[in-house]
Amino acid sequence: MFSYRHAFHAGNHADVLKHMVLLAVLRYMTQKDTALNVFDTHAGAGLYRLDGDYAKTSAEAADGFLRLLAHTPQPEFAPALQDYITLVASFNSGGHWNVYPGSPFIIQQLLHGRDKLKLFELHPTDGKTLTANIAQLDAGRQVAILREDGFEGLKKFLPPPSRRALVLCDPSYEIKSDYARVQAMVVDAMQRFPTGTYAVWYPIIPRPEAHDVPKKLKTLANKHGKSWLSATLTVKNSKLQQDTDGTVVRPGLPASGMFLINPPHTLKATLQDAMPQLVKILGQDQHAAFTLEAGG
Ligand code: SAM
Repeated sequence: MFSYRHAFHAGNHADVLKHMVLLAVLRYMTQKDTALNVFDTHAGAGLYRLDGDYAKTSAEAADGFLRLLAHTPQPEFAPALQDYITLVASFNSGGHWNVYPGSPFIIQQLLHGRDKLKLFELHPTDGKTLTANIAQLDAGRQVAILREDGFEGLKKFLPPPSRRALVLCDPSYEIKSDYARVQAMVVDAMQRFPTGTYAVWYPIIPRPEAHDVPKKLKTLANKHGKSWLSATLTVKNSKLQQDTDGTVVRPGLPASGMFLINPPHTLKATLQDAMPQLVKILGQDQHAAFTLEAGG
């Protein structure tokens, strides 16, 4: 446990999908005058250096966010994708791309004074870094950091007083039980607060628990008579490959998905424009593809 550090993965293709969708959801949800409560059950460190040691070791952003910038000729990006690139740009200056914002900073940028953000982070080092990063914002009581288990900790805040909330659930799935805990958390949350918006990120890898995530969440949404949206992005083949010298190489994360319950009704159309561009720019082989489905 606790070997996962998001700094190794910041800005990878999974972050691009997750953060573009998160931003599109927040753009919609922050339009109303009523206070919004946002819960990030697995917050990470908040900010990442793209030129730091962790990022350099894995260079995952090179096949993710940085690939969007390197694409020539620069296409006219779909509005949701352009919005995401512009937001990341606001953390960087002088034409250098050194900083990548994690979900806590993306969310905080969108909030109005009346809105609240609760961040859960269990890793001792990342919890400390998150606390130091958030302190720079001077956000006062708008942002609270809870260095506790996000799956459990969410319960005490639902339903929120304003009856408007977005829950982002983005575990590392480092331990197999995370898959079942995601499911249990959303089952419990839907009982306490069926009108909340829930956004779950999951890896698409060859293991049954991972494939079950969207299936089970869809069944849950349908059981409650709620709408849902599923978006997946595949950038490459998931099969083990052989290097030129015959060594078998792990392909790295080939695909991931976002599953939302009670998404904004505008989200499908918003993503319909952006997903083909992500496939075109981030795709690494002929297996690159997206899916976008909504129902309920
Ligand atoms: N949401 C972040 C973002 O998009 O920038 C990335 C989060 S990362 C995928 C998952 C984080 O969850 C890690 O920092 C890990 O330490 C933390 N974590 C693992 N288990 C946890 C738990 N039960 N409760 C809260 N945080 C946990």
